[in-house]
Amino acid sequence: MIYYKTHDEIEQIRKSNLLVSACIAELAKIIKPGITTMQLDQVAETFIRDHGAEPAFKGYKGFPYTCCLSVNAAVVHGFATDDELKEGDIISVDTGVVLNGFVGDSAYTFALGEIPNEVQQLLRVTKESLYLGIKKATVGNRIGDIAWAIQEHTEKKHGYGVVRELTGHGVGKKLHEEPEVPNYGKRGSGIKLQDGLVIAIEPMINLGKKDVFCADDGWTIVTSDGKPSAHFEHSIAVRKGKADILSSFKPIEEAERLNPNLFSANVPADAPVAAL
Ligand code: MG
Ligand code: MG
Repeated sequence: MIYYKTHDEIEQIRKSNLLVSACIAELAKIIKPGITTMQLDQVAETFIRDHGAEPAFKGYKGFPYTCCLSVNAAVVHGFATDDELKEGDIISVDTGVVLNGFVGDSAYTFALGEIPNEVQQLLRVTKESLYLGIKKATVGNRIGDIAWAIQEHTEKKHGYGVVRELTGHGVGKKLHEEPEVPNYGKRGSGIKLQDGLVIAIEPMINLGKKDVFCADDGWTIVTSDGKPSAHFEHSIAVRKGKADILSSFKPIEEAERLNPNLFSANVPADAPVAAL
């Protein structure tokens, strides 16, 4: 069953999501070659708790960490480890908080230093596809219109692999609510979008083929061909007929620009979607 949110609930979910954005921005300030994902996870947990919230992922179905930290061929759900990040890596930082009973969920992929042009393009196109999907989140459209827009831009136009096994989702009092929000599908299919729907849209896009497997840790999803994968996620509400983005990449992109260890060639958060 889909739980549609009131105005006040949406504003609570916005607060949760802005805390997630601030948390990812904190990590964007310190990501550099030599830092471990375990260190990043600890900074994130402290930041979230210091702001009166709880990590939404830690303990969720047994997931052991505050963030999903997915490096290179890891698509999503990567564990924090004592391995050091290095120049040329890409890392998806996905985290969630529970604040005042409401969940925020957002993700961003960073590149450490110089990365090949084809990986730069993967990051840019994946982020663009997120905004193209968001643009379709209007009253009268259906879930399939969001899915189609993402697939069209990534798979049809650029030949990337769109992960089938994982999807976006409703978000609210729970981290994962109905409906599922796939990154592939047919225009005009699925449920009709209406005011009060709050969903996380999260393209997971592979440079190579779409196939993935789950690593021995039981969580980390990895590309079967070993090629890199990108992941960007916003939580959005359908309000007054159109999409209202509840998370924000602005603080993250600001930190990314100011961190000399990070490569930034992505479209800015406030890029007019109409221009894409
Ligand atoms: Mg997420
Ligand atoms: Mg999510």
